Amino acid sequence: MDLNRLYSKALNLIPVSADEGNTLYEEAPLEELMFVANKLRYIHNPGNVAGWMIDRNVNITNICFSQCTFCNFCRKKDSPDAYVTSLNDYIRKIDELFALGGDQLLLQGGMNPDIGLRFYIDIFSKLKNLYPSLKLHALGPPEIVYLSKKERLSFYEVLSRLVTAGLDSLPGAGAEILSDRVRKIVSPAKATSEEWLGVMREAHRMNLPTSATMMYGHIETKRERIEHLIRLRDLQKEKPEGHYGFVTFIPWPFQDKGTVLAEIQGIKSSYNGSDYLRLIAISRIMLNNIRNIQASILTVGKDIATLSLHTGANDLGSIMIEENVVSAAGVTNRFNASEMQLIIKEAGFIPGRRNQKYEFLE
Ligand code: SF4
Repeated sequence: MDLNRLYSKALNLIPVSADEGNTLYEEAPLEELMFVANKLRYIHNPGNVAGWMIDRNVNITNICFSQCTFCNFCRKKDSPDAYVTSLNDYIRKIDELFALGGDQLLLQGGMNPDIGLRFYIDIFSKLKNLYPSLKLHALGPPEIVYLSKKERLSFYEVLSRLVTAGLDSLPGAGAEILSDRVRKIVSPAKATSEEWLGVMREAHRMNLPTSATMMYGHIETKRERIEHLIRLRDLQKEKPEGHYGFVTFIPWPFQDKGTVLAEIQGIKSSYNGSDYLRLIAISRIMLNNIRNIQASILTVGKDIATLSLHTGANDLGSIMIEENVVSAAGVTNRFNASEMQLIIKEAGFIPGRRNQKYEFLE
C-alpha cells in the first residue's frame, strides 16, 4: 500500500479502513506517523493548549466477582483487606479534593455481589446533597451491564436512575480490548464487547459524556487494537448530532505486577515507549471523529507523555489524587498540579485546566 496515499486520506479526515490502519501501524516509520498525527491534532484542536485536570479516584469497593487476570486490585469477599468505602471516608476525601481545587470524583470499584443499584443511588444522592457542586464521573459499562442483569432492568433504566441520583459522566472503564477472543481469556466474567458498546450507545443517546479507553500490551494482536479503534469510531458515528458521545480516547499499557496473567500465565506487559507513541499516533489517525486523545501520564510517565503531546495527543489527563487500581499493578508515577503544568509548559504547550467535558476552566 502507498503510505503517502494513506497519510493524505487521514489528513482529509476520511475514515482509514482496518487493512489500511494495520499497514500504517505495522509499516509506517514512527516519525511519519508522528508528523501526520500531530497535524491532525491541530485540525481537531487548533491552538497550543494541552489539557489537564484535577480529580480524585475513590474506589467504592475492592470486592469483585469478576477476577480478571490482569487485575491486582480486586479481592474476594472474605479477604482480610476487602472493603466497602464508608460515607465518612467519602466526606473526608471530598473535603481534601475541594481543598486542592478539584471538584470531581472518579468513582470506580469492583463488581461486588452484595451491592445493587439501590446502593449506588443512595451513595450518589447523599454525596450530591452534601456537595451540590461535586461532579461524579462514575462506574463504567461493566458495572452497568452487571446492574442491568442483577436488577432485570435495561441499560437505559439503570443509567437514567443513576443520572437522576447524580451521575454526571460515564468513564470508558473495562473496555480493555473490544474483542471477545481476548475478553474470554482475560476477563471472562465481564461485559462482552457488544455489551460494552451497547451501554455506551445508550449513554450517547442520553447525552451523557463518556470516554473511551484501551488497555493493551497483553495477549491481543496489533490487528485487534486496530479493530478496537474502528469499533469506537463506528459507535461514535451513531451518536445523535450535538451529543457528547466519546469526548476522549485514552490508551494505557497493561501493568503486570502481581497479576495472574503475568505471575501464573507468564504474560508480561509488552509496553515500550516507542510502541506507545505509535499507538497514540495511530489512534489519532483512526479516530477521525473523536476530538481529544489523552496520553496516560500516570502509566507511561513524564517523558513518553511529553512526547505524546507531539504525536497526536492533546491532553495529559488528571493528576489523579489517590489512585489504587493501576498502582496495585506496579505504577509509581505521581504528579501534583504544579508539576503537571510544568511538564506541559516544558513540552512547549500552554496548560489548560479542564473539566470532564473538556471545557477549559481558566
Ligand atoms: S478489573 Fe475491575 S472487573 Fe476486573 S477484577 Fe478488577 S475490579 Fe473486577
